[in-house]
Amino acid sequence: MNSKYPLFINNQFIETAEKQNIINPSTGKVITEASLASMKEVDFALSSAREAFDHGPWPQFSLEQRKEFILKICAGILDNAAELAQLETQNTGKPIKETTFMDIPSGAKTFEFIANNFIDYLKDEQPVLPEGAKARLEREPVGVVVLIVPWNYPLLIACWKLASCLAAGNTVILKPSSLTPLTALELAKIMHKAGLPAGVVNVINASGAKIGEALCADKRVDMISFTGSNEIGKQILQYSSKNVKKLIMELGGKSAALVFGDADLDVAINSCLVSIFLNQGQMCTAMSRFLVQESIYDKFVAGFVEKARRIKLGLAEDFQTQMGPLISDSQRKKVIAYIEKAKAEGAKVICGGKIPEAPELKNGYYFEPTLLIDVSSHSHVFKEEVFGPVALIHKFSGSDEAVALANSVDFALASCIWTSDISLADGLAKKINSGTVWINTYGMFYNQLPYGGFKQSGFGKELGREGFLEYTRVKNVITDKSSEGKPLVNYWYGF
Ligand code: NAD
Repeated sequence: MNSKYPLFINNQFIETAEKQNIINPSTGKVITEASLASMKEVDFALSSAREAFDHGPWPQFSLEQRKEFILKICAGILDNAAELAQLETQNTGKPIKETTFMDIPSGAKTFEFIANNFIDYLKDEQPVLPEGAKARLEREPVGVVVLIVPWNYPLLIACWKLASCLAAGNTVILKPSSLTPLTALELAKIMHKAGLPAGVVNVINASGAKIGEALCADKRVDMISFTGSNEIGKQILQYSSKNVKKLIMELGGKSAALVFGDADLDVAINSCLVSIFLNQGQMCTAMSRFLVQESIYDKFVAGFVEKARRIKLGLAEDFQTQMGPLISDSQRKKVIAYIEKAKAEGAKVICGGKIPEAPELKNGYYFEPTLLIDVSSHSHVFKEEVFGPVALIHKFSGSDEAVALANSVDFALASCIWTSDISLADGLAKKINSGTVWINTYGMFYNQLPYGGFKQSGFGKELGREGFLEYTRVKNVITDKSSEGKPLVNYWYGF
């Protein structure tokens, strides 16, 4: 592993005086250090991205030319896939099986998909207008785009955003979480090797609290695409209001899975376990509320607990590990505080709820897969995002009640329905307030499908045609003549 991770600005790798220790959450040990941007580097990144957009070749490149670069980035990720997976695992504590088979290849595939399809999305449209008037709608890049990504899927979410943003012809400042900047800084090397012109992509590792306002309020920025917590999302809304920017907000969730009495119980339990405990529950789409029909409630709870206890916790680098550590000690403390609050509000912990005792895990930030029952639908843990391995199960009798419970929180990101009655599920999908509804499956993301939440889970889409078009703006160009060959405005004053 490299010992230093410089910033990447204007095609230069820049070491800064201030460094951030990078911790492996499996061991609690420092694995390397990364440069941290000060205001000086933020300003350099802003002016480089602005210059590259206003005067550089990138936005003017033909679509075919941009496609070549995007495919080279995909190839670069695939060539380095094993190292990137190792690095992501060491930096995040995400089990290596997940980074190897999900995060890294999926990130590369998004570049490939966008490269092969975005040209179709950018074609001009010619709407039919009255009286022979002519107009065309042109899709243009938005300009300088700030991409801010969280620590739970550092490379994958960066790839989702970068692929569309670059293909559309924008220039970029990417800010990874300062807890997990390593794969983004490696990606900078891959993009440099792909030959992107100077200033098109700039990667700055920085503390959001220190540089967030300077970055997000600056007039040189046209758009911000943010994925992260509601708290920070709201701050960014404020910063961006100072100079008015286009925004995408992918925020938190408190997703519900509805499990009906006629579901295949084994499949539902196996899948529900993954839907909350994958990545230690640190997923925006984690199904942290299981709403289970009363006819199967006892069986579901017993099966869930029995299997949750068999999930193998271990060092994230081990391919046998099913659950790794949480990202940090402070995240684990937040999870424990939620469980204490839930207990004070009447919930019972019937599985997990504590730090594991195995000596090999004692230095990492591990926490056992946890299940709460007897949780009031008015309690904090029912309504708020825990962002850890904490599931709750709540009973319902009929489908109307299940939908009302699912919709009773402020978030509206994703949901699952487990039933053998597909027409029931299709009907419920219309009533459930969430950006994604998975029926008898979980966690499937497709490059073809737009993804994003409603209500306090944010607005705007990633992926799919709609996600790509977020990074464009529409210009209408009108050539409007009357039948005499002169414009109508010519006759207004009668001259
Ligand atoms: P966070 O909001 O703490 O941080 C997200 C990013 O914002 C990081 O890069 C951080 O450095 C930066 N940041 C922090 N303060 C800032 C500021 N004042 N100005 C500008 N940037 C700032 O979130 P997190 O803890 O990294 O990630 C977890 C959250 O992300 C959860 O709430 C989760 O639900 C959400 N998330 C949402 C999605 C989605 O698609 N909806 C996907 C993944 C994660």
